[in-house]
Amino acid sequence: MKPSVALPLVLFALLALLALPVRAEFKRPDAAGRAQALGDISAEPEPLRRLLEPDGDFYPITLPRSNDWLGVHYEPGQTFAAYRAAKPNRPDATRRVIYLLPIGEFDEDTSPPLDEIRAYAAAYFQLPVKILPAYDPHDLEFEPRKNPRSGQRQILTTSVEAFLKTRLPDDAYCLLGVTMTDLYPSPKWNYVFGEATLVDRVGIYSFARYDPAFRGDERGADYHDLILRRACKVMTHELGHMFGLEHCIYYDCLMNGANDLEEMDGTPRSVCPVCLRKLHECIGFDAVKRYEQLLALCERHHWYNDVDWINAQLAKVRPPAKPAARASREDAPATKT
Ligand SMILES: [Zn+2]
Ligand SMILES: [Zn+2]
Repeated sequence: MKPSVALPLVLFALLALLALPVRAEFKRPDAAGRAQALGDISAEPEPLRRLLEPDGDFYPITLPRSNDWLGVHYEPGQTFAAYRAAKPNRPDATRRVIYLLPIGEFDEDTSPPLDEIRAYAAAYFQLPVKILPAYDPHDLEFEPRKNPRSGQRQILTTSVEAFLKTRLPDDAYCLLGVTMTDLYPSPKWNYVFGEATLVDRVGIYSFARYDPAFRGDERGADYHDLILRRACKVMTHELGHMFGLEHCIYYDCLMNGANDLEEMDGTPRSVCPVCLRKLHECIGFDAVKRYEQLLALCERHHWYNDVDWINAQLAKVRPPAKPAARASREDAPATKT
C-alpha cells in the first residue's frame, strides 16, 4: 500500500512546486534598449532635443535588491512609442488646472506646506495648480478604521475617490485630495501612500508617513525639509501617472516604482530623457523655462544636488558666456598717439 500512496503525494508536491509563481529576474535594458525606448529624437526642435540627449547626466537604472519594487514586480517598461500609441489624457484649453483639495487638518508641525507643493507641481508640469478650500470630513466619513497592526486611524481610498468625483471643477485636468490621515485601499491591505483613477481624473494621497515620527523614529533637525522633499517627490510621481506615464525601467528616474519610503528616497526628483519626452509630448511645455523655474525653487529650498543637476541641463542650451568686457581704462592696451 505504502508506495501507491506515496507516489501520488510526491507527484502532487512536484506539481505544487511547478505551480509556484516564478519571479522573473529584472533584466536591465542595455544602451540599445534605452535608445529604443527614447526613440528617434533627431527631428525634435532645439533646444528640446539637446535636453533629451541621453548623456552622462542620466544613469541607467540601479539594479534592484530583492525587496525593491522591480525585485518584486515585473514591469515590461513603457517606451515613448508605446506611450504615444496609448493616447493618454492630455490637458487642453478648457481642462488644464491641477486642483489640490486638502482633506482634514494640516498641522504645521507634521505637514508639508501646501503652497510649496503647489508651486513645485506648477513648475514641474508647467500647468496652473490651485488649492481648493479645505474639506473637513466628519469622524465616520470615508469608512475609517484602526490599522490592525499599528492601531493608527486610516480612511478608505475608494470612498474618498467617490467623493472627489462629485467635486471635480469644470476646468480641472485632475483633482487630487491630499490628507495627513493614513490610507488603506481595501480591508486586506495594511496601508497605501496614495491611489488615483486615470479615467475619473481623481486621486488621493496621504503625507502621513513622511514624518519620521510616524514610525516612532527620531526626527532629524531638518525633518520639515525631509517631509517637504518627500511630498514634492511623491506628488510629482503620482501626477506623472495622471499624465499616462507608467513606471520607468530605463534610468534612475522620478517615475521608478518604489516599495517603501527608503527606496523612494533613493530615486531622483528629475525625470529621465524617456519620461521627459513623454511629459513634453503630453503637455507641450517650454522645457528651458521649466528647468529655470525648478532651479529657482530648488535654490530657495537649498536642494543643492538638484541645483547642480538642473544647472548642468541649462548649460546645454545656453550659449557659452562671452569673455567679460574690459572693465576699466587701466586694462586697455597702451596705444601710440
Ligand atoms: Zn507609481
Ligand atoms: Zn524615466
